[in-house]
Amino acid sequence: MTVTDPCTADQQPEPTTLAEACDLVHTPDLDISEDGMFGTYGGAHLPPQLAGPMREVAEAYAEARQDPEFYAEYARLLRDFVGRPSPLTPLERLSDELGGARIVLKREDLNHTGAHKINHCVGEALLAKRMGKTSLIAETGAGQHGVALATAAALVGLDCEIHMGAVDIAKQHPNVVRMRLLGTKVVSVEREGRSLKEAVDSAFAVYAANPEKYLFAIGSVVGPHPFPTIVRDFQAVVGRESRRQIVERYGRLPDAVIACVGGGSNAMGAFTAYLDDSDVRLIGVEPGGRSQAKGEHAMTMGKGVPGMLHGMSTLVLQDEEGTPDPVHSIASGLDYPGVGPQHARFKELGRVEYVAEDDAAVLDAFQRLSRTEGIVPALESSHAVAHALRIAPRLPKEQMLLVNLSGRGDKDVDYVAEKLGITGDADEVVH
Ligand SMILES: *Cc1c(COP(=O)(O)O)cnc(C)c1O
Repeated sequence: MTVTDPCTADQQPEPTTLAEACDLVHTPDLDISEDGMFGTYGGAHLPPQLAGPMREVAEAYAEARQDPEFYAEYARLLRDFVGRPSPLTPLERLSDELGGARIVLKREDLNHTGAHKINHCVGEALLAKRMGKTSLIAETGAGQHGVALATAAALVGLDCEIHMGAVDIAKQHPNVVRMRLLGTKVVSVEREGRSLKEAVDSAFAVYAANPEKYLFAIGSVVGPHPFPTIVRDFQAVVGRESRRQIVERYGRLPDAVIACVGGGSNAMGAFTAYLDDSDVRLIGVEPGGRSQAKGEHAMTMGKGVPGMLHGMSTLVLQDEEGTPDPVHSIASGLDYPGVGPQHARFKELGRVEYVAEDDAAVLDAFQRLSRTEGIVPALESSHAVAHALRIAPRLPKEQMLLVNLSGRGDKDVDYVAEKLGITGDADEVVH
C-alpha cells in the first residue's frame, strides 16, 4: 500500500504567479464574431443613437482582449482584490447522505462581495477606463449588479450611476445604502411601473445622451453585442480555474457541471472551459417558480420562444404581441424573461441540457446545504444545488458533479427565515 502524505496530497492549486493568473483570464481562443451572432440569436438591435456607441465598445474590446497589459491588470485585480482563485469544496457529508455521485462546489460565493458578478464588473470597469470614460452606468433590480459595479468603480477610480425602480429601492434598502457608501449615485425611477424595466429605459436614455462619458455596464451575458461576448470572456475564468483544479486534484474531469441560469453569466463562466469535453454533461438550471402557469416561473429556456429583448434576439417569455410575460422566482436574480443568446444557441445545438427546479425544491436545498455542510447559498445558486440533490442519488458513486455556487446567501436569510417561520427569538431562555 502506498502511504500518501496528507499534507501534500489533495492540495488546492494556487496560481500565485501573475503569469499563471494571466493564463487563466486570457481568452483569445474564444470565438468573437463581428456581428455578435450565435446562430440566429444575438446581434445588436438598437435605436440609431446607440448603434455607434455600441460599435465603439466592440472595437475597444476587440483591441483590449489582444493586449497583454490589459489582461495582466485584470488578472492582478482578480487575484488581489476579488480573492481568486476561488476554492473547490467537496461535499463529503451531503454526498454520503445521498449515496450516489459525489458533489463538489466551485466557491464563487467566497469572492469579495459574495458572488460571481464581481468578475465581469471589474473587467467592465477596466474596459471603461481604457476607453477614457469617466463613469459607469447601469440599472439594477434587486441591487446585486449595482453593488458589484459600484465596488468595481470604486476600485478603479470611476464614477458610477445606478438606476433603480422606486419599488425596488424601497425593497432593497441595504443594497441602496451599500452603493451610496461606495460613492455611487443611485437614481430612483418613479415612472409608471417603477421597477426594473423602467430602470433599464431610464439608464439607457441617460447613456444615449452622453455616450462619451459613460460605459453602459450590462450585468449578465445579455443585451446587444458585444456584451454577451464581453461578459462571457470575463466569466470564463470560473470554468478554466475549476477545470484545472479538478484535474490537478482528482486527475480527471467532472461528469457534469451544473449552474443556475438567470441571464446566464455564471453558467456561461462555469461551462465555457468544458464545451469541447463531450463526456462532460453541462446542465443549466432555471427557476421553476411556484408553478408552470404564466407569470409563476421564469423558465425562458423551457418555455420561451424566439423574440427580441434588450437589444438582442434570443428566447423570450412573451405573448403573441411580443410583450414580455411577467415572471417569478424565489431568487430575485433569476426572474428575467430572456436569456443570453449563446445559451439559446447551446439549447439549439443540444450541447447544454436545461432543466428547472421549483421554489420548494430550492428552499429545501438552501436548508440542506446550510445544515449539512455549513454553507449558506444564495437562493439563485440553490437552484443548481437542488438539481444536484435530485440527480446524485441515481448516479454511481464514481461520478462527480461540479456545482457552481454562484453566490452566498447572506442577502437571503431574512426572507428564508420568514418563509420557514424561523423567528429571531432564541430556542431556549435561561434566567
Ligand atoms: C445575479 C445572480 C445570478 C443570476 O445571474 P446569471 O447572469 O444567470 O449568472 C445567479 N447567482 C447569483 C448569486 C447572482 O447574484
